[in-house]
Amino acid sequence: MWMKLIYPKWPKLPEQTEFHLPPHGPINFAANVPPDVELTFHDENRVELDLEDRPDVVALSVMLTCATPRAKEIAAAYRARGIPVIAGGIAVAIHKEEMAAACDAVFLGEVEGHFDEMLDDLRRKQLKKTYDRMSQLPDIAAVKTARRDILDYDLYTYRGVRMVDLVHASRGCRFNCPPCSVAYLGGRCFRPRPVEAVVREVESIDNGRLFFVDNSLAQSKEWELELFRALKPLKRKWISHPIEADDEVLQAAYEAGAWYVYQAITQPSDGIRKRIQMYRDHGIGIEGTIILGADDQTKDDVIRLVEFCLEMDLDMAEFTVMTPFLHTPYRAQVESEGRVLHNNWSDYTTGKVVFQPRHMTPTELQDLYYWAWDRFYGADGRQTKMARLFRKVVLRERAEGVQVLADGTLRGWVKPN
Ligand code: SF4
Repeated sequence: MWMKLIYPKWPKLPEQTEFHLPPHGPINFAANVPPDVELTFHDENRVELDLEDRPDVVALSVMLTCATPRAKEIAAAYRARGIPVIAGGIAVAIHKEEMAAACDAVFLGEVEGHFDEMLDDLRRKQLKKTYDRMSQLPDIAAVKTARRDILDYDLYTYRGVRMVDLVHASRGCRFNCPPCSVAYLGGRCFRPRPVEAVVREVESIDNGRLFFVDNSLAQSKEWELELFRALKPLKRKWISHPIEADDEVLQAAYEAGAWYVYQAITQPSDGIRKRIQMYRDHGIGIEGTIILGADDQTKDDVIRLVEFCLEMDLDMAEFTVMTPFLHTPYRAQVESEGRVLHNNWSDYTTGKVVFQPRHMTPTELQDLYYWAWDRFYGADGRQTKMARLFRKVVLRERAEGVQVLADGTLRGWVKPN
């Protein structure tokens, strides 16, 4: 059976430098596809799709809400020619009814240990419409090393430099922030993978630079210390979401290769000022992730927040506008107040205002969003700041005697058996 695994394209934020990371969802899914299935992978963000071929089945891996319209178009094209289409991924779980209507079958939830039933039904041509495993989270120890062999790494470079490889050490999150759907997807619980499984997976990646895509590492001090101590001998450098603001943890993170973190900054405060300083004191860079247009922000608050990012001299910053994604606490609130402007999912990119903000007009928020990018990056430009952050990691690798070759491969890396 030939399964054509497709990662549908989505509209990029024009303000951001366009670069493409090797995807994570599809390679995790691929690890659960048995070897007798011939699997090919097609990232539409990087290559044009051939919609005229005849695979036995098309599998759509859909991560973002703004990719769902394109996913439905692809499904329609194949189904019109009698080719079955199945779909899974975060955005499929979030948009389950409309994705189920557009495909032959949808898989909801985490795939480990659960895909065989769908595959058996597919082979017997008896697919059910929905395979809902959202309330049956698999044993986290069942998560396998992702199948990076399906990726064409030539597609994931920027100016000739290989992009980071994505990997995860945990799933879920114990928090429930208003704009986030992680609690809906994972039941508001933190599930760390066995540290030895993470180490095995990292060892299997030839890239010297990684991105731990876990929602937030700041979930358990003991776990972070155990993880970082285990990662240290592997000599990788890595990016992650927040790390515990604790000197012992941050020192262990730095020694384990922490390069920079994505840190949410919601308002100028002594707490966030201290946290940023702590990262910096431990040699860890900061890319601020800043959502503009929250209900407690006036126009002046947005301006103050952007000025605060400049004052803190963040290495990088990513500005987005508040967006009421389905199955988030924030969506429930703005919906009940009649403040959702529309559900054109292609516009749910976090770069377009799709709701009525509380203290300004949608146009004012949209203009503030453009202003924030211009103000922060100014004459320097985003690429200059990116280059500085990149230089930091190169200098550190050199100082530590770690060599990353031009193709991103870690020198001395030995393929595990
Ligand atoms: S925003 Fe981050 S910390 Fe908050 S619930 Fe979502 S994943 Fe957890």
